[in-house]
Amino acid sequence: MKLKGGYNILLAGRPGSTVEVLPEPEVLYLPLRTKRFDFGDICVKDGQHVELGEVLAKDAANFSIPLLSPRAGVVRLNAAEGHIVLEDITKYQKQPKTEQANVPHVEHGSGTVRSKIEKMVSLGAWEFFCDAYDGNVPDPDEKPQAVIVSTVSLEPFLSRGDAQLKNRLLKFTRGLEHLQSLLEYQPMYLVMPQVRSSFASKVKDHLRGYAWVKLIEVRSKYPYDNFNILARRLKLKKDGGPVWCIKTEGVLATDRALTRSSPCLARILSIGGPEAKNPVHVKGVTGYPIKTILDKYANDDNVRVICGGMLTGQTCGEGALGIDSECRGLTLMPEHTEREFLGFVRPGFDRSSYAPCFLSALRLKHRESFSTAMRGEGRPCVSCNFCEEVCPAGIMPHLLHKYLYKDLIEEADEARIDLCVRCGLCSFVCPSKIELTKQFIEAQDLIEKEKEEARLDAIRQEKKRMEEARRKEAQEKGQEEEY
Ligand code: SF4
Ligand code: SF4
Repeated sequence: MKLKGGYNILLAGRPGSTVEVLPEPEVLYLPLRTKRFDFGDICVKDGQHVELGEVLAKDAANFSIPLLSPRAGVVRLNAAEGHIVLEDITKYQKQPKTEQANVPHVEHGSGTVRSKIEKMVSLGAWEFFCDAYDGNVPDPDEKPQAVIVSTVSLEPFLSRGDAQLKNRLLKFTRGLEHLQSLLEYQPMYLVMPQVRSSFASKVKDHLRGYAWVKLIEVRSKYPYDNFNILARRLKLKKDGGPVWCIKTEGVLATDRALTRSSPCLARILSIGGPEAKNPVHVKGVTGYPIKTILDKYANDDNVRVICGGMLTGQTCGEGALGIDSECRGLTLMPEHTEREFLGFVRPGFDRSSYAPCFLSALRLKHRESFSTAMRGEGRPCVSCNFCEEVCPAGIMPHLLHKYLYKDLIEEADEARIDLCVRCGLCSFVCPSKIELTKQFIEAQDLIEKEKEEARLDAIRQEKKRMEEARRKEAQEKGQEEEY
């Protein structure tokens, strides 16, 4: 696949690689819904005391992925809508390092693939996996055609691989060895910013003789780290079986689950964006109160909090009280509530844009300041073609938008809306502020649903036709015998 597009986004507010440990919380708010999971199968009772790592709820529709208790405490089921609240938290005592935790390599024959995957699911490591093509959690019973591991994070403000890896190289390489032990002959690709760096050499030296990984270098241009794009670049076919994908934190979680048999409860999150006082990485647990984080790290009260990166994250509503189990970082943006008079024609010297026509184009490369009201109000498409220029999937977002605007779903399907990797770049550069990505995600889901319904309908019709044929055959046979 020939890739084009992408964008070098220079933004002020990118977190550094230092990691601060958040203070122990007094109460935790564990969201029951995340981007991919719905932990509707509650496994605890109101008022119950739970231990660290105990299963609080499961997502029955997603291979029973568990929501684990990050601390020992008392469960409150009705204290906050959409959350399990954990009160009377017992202070976490750091476990002394065991000898097993420092073993340099994975022993061969240490359990079957099935038992290892079951362990990863139950200890919360499997939720770090996604499929390259549909983004969902892969079926633990299916064999992958390949594994892609990425240490690269190009979306602005999101948790970086180098912060995750600080002092954890051994755990990372051991995690890769564990992954290798789950495979038969399928390839494992390791995506890095530079394959000729000292870090890459260290990884190769550690793995020599223990795991086989093919190093892949990506350009530092968003969204070249997108798993869907990487899978296409590696010529892994969509219908060739699942492509397991994980980022650095997933490899570390795999190591934790399989080397120490410990639940994966801690998260390293980025706190970034123009409204972050001191853009940084923090170590905390699922359910950590968002308000406590904002009190410490946000510049202002009037801030929009985005769970995830600026381009693919979701705004945290007022009802969101704690960090969810899939959150990789919080992006803090100034919330502009007032409209600027003719803001779009005079975007300002300090406001850079993808469009080279604005005043800011006269400036040299600089870190942009961003707000939720970048480039004025929503307007119709002005056919500027910027969205097509940046789209890495090689499709025409403006054309798709026009089809969808007129409800021409079939035409959008023919124009290959399925190739959209949901990177958000078209919405980002659109001077008319059209919510292109949101439209495409909704349309893709609708087309997928319609195709699935058509497929099931065809199966039903075929079954009916065969039953009818059988019935006729039996009838004719009966008549012959009678005769
Ligand atoms: S159409 Fe899809 S792949 Fe192309 S820029 Fe927009 S979100 Fe990204
Ligand atoms: S970037 Fe926006 S305004 Fe420009 S062509 Fe695409 S949809 Fe239209």
